[in-house]
Amino acid sequence: MTHSHGTLYIVSAPSGAGKTSLVKALIEQVDEVRVSVSHTTRPMRPGEVDGVNYHFVDHAQFRQMIDQQAFLEHAEVFGNYYGTARSSVEQSLAKGHDTILEIDWQGAQQVRRVLPQARSIFILPPSREALRERLNNRGQDSNGVIEQRMAQATDEMSHYHEYDFVVINDEFSIALQDLKAIVRSGHLASQRQQAQLQQLLDALLSD
Ligand code: 5GP
Repeated sequence: MTHSHGTLYIVSAPSGAGKTSLVKALIEQVDEVRVSVSHTTRPMRPGEVDGVNYHFVDHAQFRQMIDQQAFLEHAEVFGNYYGTARSSVEQSLAKGHDTILEIDWQGAQQVRRVLPQARSIFILPPSREALRERLNNRGQDSNGVIEQRMAQATDEMSHYHEYDFVVINDEFSIALQDLKAIVRSGHLASQRQQAQLQQLLDALLSD
């Protein structure tokens, strides 16, 4: 049986679109899907766990990983550094896991350049009002902070057209179904089918 590689997925969204919850539900419900744990220099938030949500590192460690070319992609987002370790993604794909990178548009552009076969998904909120409400619900932030997040979200959303798929997260369960359909379609893609079913195809096509 030919060894099959997992598919690489890039998922981007403005903060407040529900990306993390959707990806979490997806990996719980679909076998063989994993999410890559990024490295970041941003401070840990309450409830976050090192090695689970992120690998939390300082600037010197991050810089060293850049110098060692350890990152598949890295970017500065809202004043902090984020990056995807090349080795862990390669290992995950080699094990046959579909692997999700939750990264911003800058990282997505870098990954597409080196791995054009990656399939990219952009998650959008249903409206600006819904987005503002979701950003508002996050804490007791001032109007200024919320306006700043709206501006950042608008900047991120302006890149939606660079992605293969766009999913609107209005009804959570429907957006989740959409994500599942995208992953399912990856399994059915002929290239992958050919790798997995090479023997069968050889037999069917010989006379
Ligand atoms: P947060 O700090 O709220 O967890 O994430 C902030 C932003 O950084 C999100 O847009 C998220 O997609 C992005 N991000 C998280 N990890 C990475 C990464 O490894 N690379 C890049 N380029 N962006 C990332």
